Amino acid sequence: MDFKFNEAEQQFRDEIQSFLKSQLPADWADRAFLGEVPAEEQEELAKKLTAALADKKWLAMAWPEEHGGLDAGHVQQMLYKEETAYAEMPSGSTMGVDWVGPAVMLFGNDEQKAKYLPNIVNGIDQWCTLYSEPGAGSDLASLQTRAVRDGDEYVINGSKIWTSGGHFSNMGWLAARTDPDAPKHRGISTFVLEMDTPGIEVRPLVNMADEHNFNEVFFEDVRIPATNLVGVENRGWYQVATALDYERSGVAAYAGGKRNLERLVGAAKQDETLLKQNPNARYELADRFVELQVGYNVAYRIPFLQAQGQIPNHEASVSKLYGSELTQRIARTGIQMLGMGGQILPGSPHSKLGGAIARTYLTSVSSTVAAGTSEVQRNIIAQRGLGLPRG
Ligand SMILES: Cc1cc2nc3c(=O)[nH]c(=O)nc-3n(C[C@H](O)[C@H](O)[C@H](O)COP(=O)(O)OP(=O)(O)OC[C@H]3O[C@@H](n4cnc5c(N)ncnc54)[C@H](O)[C@@H]3O)c2cc1C
Repeated sequence: MDFKFNEAEQQFRDEIQSFLKSQLPADWADRAFLGEVPAEEQEELAKKLTAALADKKWLAMAWPEEHGGLDAGHVQQMLYKEETAYAEMPSGSTMGVDWVGPAVMLFGNDEQKAKYLPNIVNGIDQWCTLYSEPGAGSDLASLQTRAVRDGDEYVINGSKIWTSGGHFSNMGWLAARTDPDAPKHRGISTFVLEMDTPGIEVRPLVNMADEHNFNEVFFEDVRIPATNLVGVENRGWYQVATALDYERSGVAAYAGGKRNLERLVGAAKQDETLLKQNPNARYELADRFVELQVGYNVAYRIPFLQAQGQIPNHEASVSKLYGSELTQRIARTGIQMLGMGGQILPGSPHSKLGGAIARTYLTSVSSTVAAGTSEVQRNIIAQRGLGLPRG
């Protein structure tokens, strides 16, 4: 077994690192970690970087050349994700590149491909994903938002929840029920829509770290052209399931975890009292270090499988499960090591590391819920990985 990146991959890693170094202010990662970057500065930099990345065709580098990508290998794509996450690069929504575009390529018609793919490759459109509803998360096939055909249009009614980036996205990727009488998996369709269509209302949801990342979205008699249906009517569930597999194979959790572990190790070296007060912390840090090595191997197994023409399935769930739980363990290690001051949020002179670990701890809670909960991932691994019967 060869765990080495080849020469071209290593060269690409060097290239993306020097690109990020040239584009991001030297103190960027630290200021972002401490929550010191005003929203406007973050947005402006994200826009500038998106344009520069689109120029290099790096935003959707793994896409086929005919759709504006570079046909880059999956390993290179993951290196890109790893390095941009480690650098804490500000970006808009990556959903267009990650699963809307691939779903349009797989299930859309030629007009849809011509209409939607270029604006994803160029970073012009921001996409949000409208799947979850108050009564449909893990059991997504229970979704109740209706899309009723009326002549050349569909009329949408219902509501969505936890819509990440819904407040800044101009485009939405929607799963809605088109046949209420069919078995639940067979009555769902997928649509593209413009978020400023009359009848759509986006209301903010603020998380417990006081950040506004997701939203509720309400649809009241929203009329969209029938040509916005992607793929075959009532076959949307299978399209959603295929598209979700793209979402779970991320390396970003490990890259972010590595950065946070380095910060904690730096703090322990700088302030000797931290390890004296909590001698167990050195072992906790060592454990997290080992777990990160394991995690990187788990994550990179996915593009290596893809490179051999295999489709990752339960392997992606292994990475999602391990990465999201490790994110929480690293935050917990930080809180324990930093003592009482580690629990104080930014803004207080008594907080440790500027309160950033306390904030990370709060934001990490949702990592085992977003994109499918840990229980759901364990079910997938038990069933498809171990061949156990459905629970
Ligand atoms: C940060 C964040 C961002 C998100 N962004 C989006 C987005 O952009 N678009 C979108 O559509 N959704 C988004 N979501 C929603 C996310 O996909 C759902 O929250 C998730 O799928 C869980 O659904 P739920 O919240 O309804 O919980 P439920 O499904 O109600 O689950 C409640 C509990 O029951 C457990 N459970 C449920 N079913 C089973 C089972 N079969 N076996 C064992 N245990 C089970 C769950 O694991 C969980 O612990 C986001 C969520 C978060 C936290």
